[in-house]
Amino acid sequence: MAVKAYGTYAADKPLEPLEITRRVPGPHDVQIEIAFCGICHSDLHQARAEWAGTQWPCVPGHEIVGRVSAVGAHVSGFKAGDLVGIGCIVDSCRHCPDCEDGLENYCDAMVGTYNSPTPDAPGHTLGGYSQRIVVHERYVLRIRHPESQLAAVAPLLCAGITTYSPLKHWKAGPGKKVGVVGIGGLGHMDIKLAHAMGAHVVAFTTSESKREAALALGANEVVVSRNPDEMAAHAKSFDFILNTVAAPHDLDAFLVLLKRDGTMALVGAPATPHPSPNVFDLIMKRRALAGSMIGGIAETQEMLDFCAEHGIVADIEMIRAETINEAYERMLKGDVKYRFVIDNASLAS
Ligand code: NAP
Ligand code: ZN
Ligand code: ZN
Repeated sequence: MAVKAYGTYAADKPLEPLEITRRVPGPHDVQIEIAFCGICHSDLHQARAEWAGTQWPCVPGHEIVGRVSAVGAHVSGFKAGDLVGIGCIVDSCRHCPDCEDGLENYCDAMVGTYNSPTPDAPGHTLGGYSQRIVVHERYVLRIRHPESQLAAVAPLLCAGITTYSPLKHWKAGPGKKVGVVGIGGLGHMDIKLAHAMGAHVVAFTTSESKREAALALGANEVVVSRNPDEMAAHAKSFDFILNTVAAPHDLDAFLVLLKRDGTMALVGAPATPHPSPNVFDLIMKRRALAGSMIGGIAETQEMLDFCAEHGIVADIEMIRAETINEAYERMLKGDVKYRFVIDNASLAS
């Protein structure tokens, strides 16, 4: 079935309207009419081939929400009309230790929502900047927020789970001091989630203009990271820091803020490496530098339900599909509070 989409044929070309095909739903498939799709910085990295291996055409988008329009004969958990989401994962091997632990995000055969091998045309997956998607029921998430919040739920499918998973893993909660570096799409969700989990939250930003906004999002304190005195005031005090920055930068400035046995987890995935951290900063206080990638399907459902229960959604700016290229430029400048979301109805015109 042909559907309208937005994508690009080369790293140096803007995104443009194109037509793609979606498979007819198989026995275990769920067909979804996409209502909204968030714009993640990963979409830009991939579309501009800043990471290795971009396949063309590239149709990004892995913060997908919409309504089920058809289900295969063996699907029991979903029916036409249900509000659902698709995040970064549309398939995996389903039997390795990672899949069995519900951590499909770490399966070596994980199929990403875009740019991963698939038997479907054109041979790689195509994402949510499109009218429709067909996904095996195992990877479909249920949305329990009110429908009026649907657009603002979309970013939870990547920005939400990518911050929720490490916060849980490193046990953010009451009595813990948690730092968030970079107040963009991921960072603003991290503030909201860490605050809801009961942690003391400190936001680190390079943008003086985000100081008040970060407090409004739920941060207890805000540090402008370009100011050495403000940084020094927090030396050796953090249990956990989540670093969401999409560009290479000095990690030592944050590592020295961890207390003994503290961890900084990197989720930002810059196109070129960070300068190597100073080993002594790690050795001296048994500090850890770690990484984390999105989250598993069960944990994504848990995160969505946690957010529905606590009234948490993303702060979004809705756009029409024809302004995606402008949105990319603005995202690069940090000029978005805090996530662009495409109104996929605009693909029809
Ligand atoms: P974003 O909305 O562009 O936010 C990134 C933030 O980082 C910016 O708002 C800015 O915050 C800060 N920043 C950007 N450039 C900087 C620089 N040169 N120096 C210091 N700070 C800078 O991006 P996002 O969608 O949140 O994604 C962030 C990164 O995470 C991307 O690399 C993305 O690919 C990656 N990602 C990883 C995963 C995963 O599973 N690990 C999942 C999703 C996304 P301030 O203005 O506050 O400084
Ligand atoms: Zn993403
Ligand atoms: Zn697996």
